[in-house]
Amino acid sequence: MRQARLRVFCVTKTNHILRGFALSEIQQILSEKNLDRHNDGLLELLNNVTVDDVKCALRETPGEYSLKRMLTLISPAAQECLEDMASQAAALTVQRFGKTVQLYAPLYVSNYCCNSCLYCGYNSSTKFERTRLTIEQAAAEADIIASEGFRHILLVSGEDPSFVTCDYLNELAEKLRSKFSSISIEIQPLSTDGYAEVFRGGIDGVTLYQETYDRDTYAKYHKAGPKSDYDYRLDTHDRTAAGGMRRLGVGFLLGLANWRLETLAMSEHAAYLMKNYWRAQVSFSFPRMRPALNVAENYQHLVNDKELVQLMLALRLCFADAGIVLSTRESAAFRDNLVKLCVTRMSAGSKTNPGGYSGDGNSAEQFEIDDDRSAGQIADMLKSVGKETVWKDWDAGFVNV
Ligand code: SF4
Repeated sequence: MRQARLRVFCVTKTNHILRGFALSEIQQILSEKNLDRHNDGLLELLNNVTVDDVKCALRETPGEYSLKRMLTLISPAAQECLEDMASQAAALTVQRFGKTVQLYAPLYVSNYCCNSCLYCGYNSSTKFERTRLTIEQAAAEADIIASEGFRHILLVSGEDPSFVTCDYLNELAEKLRSKFSSISIEIQPLSTDGYAEVFRGGIDGVTLYQETYDRDTYAKYHKAGPKSDYDYRLDTHDRTAAGGMRRLGVGFLLGLANWRLETLAMSEHAAYLMKNYWRAQVSFSFPRMRPALNVAENYQHLVNDKELVQLMLALRLCFADAGIVLSTRESAAFRDNLVKLCVTRMSAGSKTNPGGYSGDGNSAEQFEIDDDRSAGQIADMLKSVGKETVWKDWDAGFVNV
């Protein structure tokens, strides 16, 4: 790839000056590299990558990131080199993580939501009977999860800030701390003070997806509600890290925009977080568009299996120490194959509706799961492919909190 072509990454007049207000560092990075809008120049670069360029990139030290290397590994040409990418990714994953895979379970505490994401069955205009779990109900669900062996739990909700408050989270965390060594949240974005408050309460990880890094696509799918503020969402992980969180989960919704362009933007975001918040571990997740309640299925950018494999391998080959998470949205066969290559964390036995574990609630699921095997079955599968299940890999006692 000729070096001169990379000039397309630079802009002569930065958008932030044109907008007339100060941008955060990550906003500025994406703006200056033209990664926060659809970019035909980058698509051309991707299409011009040759198989020789990919082979050359694969001779470099695996696990190190540059935008050029990522662009090369996610190019259409790199699909010819997936076997080489897979063997390098598998070796690198074992080198950095051993043969371990951590299991976790999501606990949905509310399916109320104040947003209107067009792709989600929980959006505020969808009519269905919504459910919020009391602290006691949520703790009872968590007991079931703990009884299956899990020591890592992810608390999930729609964006429901009037119910899922810091007080609610801390009260629930207080009940869960003796059963779970780590508690993460996937809820509405909080302020820095909010993250610090729940961190003190025992929550140490945040998963929050940008959904799409393309500002125009973002505006199209998020027309109302607090989530319509692209920049506030983009800056969230600065606030999570400033609040003390140790695990930062990033991702985009596969299906909203061109996945290759989204990957470049997400990679810059991750590299920025790793550089500035080196104490925290960044992990990537891959929420792929799934059928959902009352949601149209006509999306132009759906990602097929081969492309998703390429994306995951490229991320491993550019970010040696990043967590790679694969949820039960994906099929058993797909997960079984990917766990041999680069996955470090999986959900198992998941219920994606509040009250789903106890069976007390018939509340609507956020999305349909594909792999419905129990935690025990997943552990057996991991053993059969030479992997060791990790139920607990972190203890707050390690850092005296
Ligand atoms: S994606 Fe999240 S924020 Fe958007 S409607 Fe669904 S639950 Fe609410």
